[in-house]
Amino acid sequence: MSVARSKRAMGPALAVRSWPVWDNPRWLVRFILAVAALDAIAISVSARMTDLHPGQLLLFGFLLACSLATVELTRRAGENAGLTKDVGGVWELPIAILLPPVYALIGPIPRIMLTQFRTRSMPIYKRIFTAAAIGLSYGGASLAFHTVNQEVIRHIPGSEARSAAWILAVAACGTLQWAVNNCLVLTAVKSQDPTASVRKLALTREPLHNDAIELCVAVLVTIGIAKSPMAILFALPFVTLLQRSQRHAQLVNDSRYDAKTSLLNAGTWEREASAEVARANRTRTSLAVALIDVDNFKAVNDTYGHLAGDKALRALSRTIKIFLREYDLVGRFGGEEFALLLPQTDEQDARRVAERIRAHIAEMPIDADDKAGSEIIRITISIGVAALSTTGSQLTELLATADAALYRAKHAGRNQVWVTTDAESSCSSIGSGG
Ligand code: GH3
Ligand code: MG
Ligand code: MG
Repeated sequence: MSVARSKRAMGPALAVRSWPVWDNPRWLVRFILAVAALDAIAISVSARMTDLHPGQLLLFGFLLACSLATVELTRRAGENAGLTKDVGGVWELPIAILLPPVYALIGPIPRIMLTQFRTRSMPIYKRIFTAAAIGLSYGGASLAFHTVNQEVIRHIPGSEARSAAWILAVAACGTLQWAVNNCLVLTAVKSQDPTASVRKLALTREPLHNDAIELCVAVLVTIGIAKSPMAILFALPFVTLLQRSQRHAQLVNDSRYDAKTSLLNAGTWEREASAEVARANRTRTSLAVALIDVDNFKAVNDTYGHLAGDKALRALSRTIKIFLREYDLVGRFGGEEFALLLPQTDEQDARRVAERIRAHIAEMPIDADDKAGSEIIRITISIGVAALSTTGSQLTELLATADAALYRAKHAGRNQVWVTTDAESSCSSIGSGG
């Protein structure tokens, strides 16, 4: 039976119960529903308070058309996974500033829906949440701007001072929108993945730089359109170019990571690890490498299914990161194999870190799926460790030594850490697993 037919056969209540949104933690489901409901209420209240003016409708239509054209003209550049960044705000800020708040609330909906159907399909609840979060943040910014404009800016004496204040207020409202939207989106991201770093996602140089560029262009376009709506025509090619270059930068950045686990991919790990090894050799500091392999992982797939196996790999990746420092490198080497590079870490410390990870994983219950009462998966890992002081000075030699230690851990019964010392490989611990 096809999926559509089987859903129809289920009846509407069962079909609703099968929506992917319910797979999220309960708190997150409530948060998503609350944001979507708040947006719907804000739209209906503000719509009732707004009189329709043909001039405003026409400007809204033009800006919306530009927003949709930007999606269409850049759709081949794709959309990055995870927290997406685009330049939709370049059209949505002028809507918020030059039109009443209701237009700012509904403005993002057609753009997000077109992105869903033309650029990349994802669970629809994510698109609804995104549209609601952006709509609410622009709606709030619009309300704030119109209030400040009415109460303060209009009364400033002198046209120069007034227009300077107007531009500053536009920029301030764009910043307010950025802050509100980030709070809503990052709350959802953090509750879905508690190990996600808010700082890395929104507050490091790269995302801040992108957001600052988007805001500056949005302010310029707003000023241009406030002078004459003709400015729209000249802004459109520039905005599509900006969107493409942002997407390109994101693709370059995404290509560093493994899509399944969000760890560094093998190529990036090796490149960055080589640089670290060269630095450690130059500065004569210690450094260690560890190779991790999941024990009997084929049996996990055979017992619980491949999707549950993927879930276990993601849980393992998140856990490994918890035990590492910011500057340690962790990469997915192959299917169920991971590599760690620990700068300024001698053999003893590396053994301790590896042992802590091994022991934690052996005790860690992993839900086979996200549903209540799901089966619990248990996995164990074997780890081979090699330290720079005891081996050759190249990454390839360190990896070969760590691999030999891993091989011995496997053959000694798995769920163990083996460390290569000057004399020979030594076993650090033996767990209960098989
Ligand atoms: P050992 O203890 O000797 O390492 O046994 P093993 O079963 O882990 O080793 P083997 O190399 O025979 O099997 C590795 C398995 O990992 C086989 C493959 O299906 C599975 N695997 C590799 N990549 C992925 C992945 O991305 N997702 C899932 N679910 N399984 C994967
Ligand atoms: Mg393997
Ligand atoms: Mg394995």
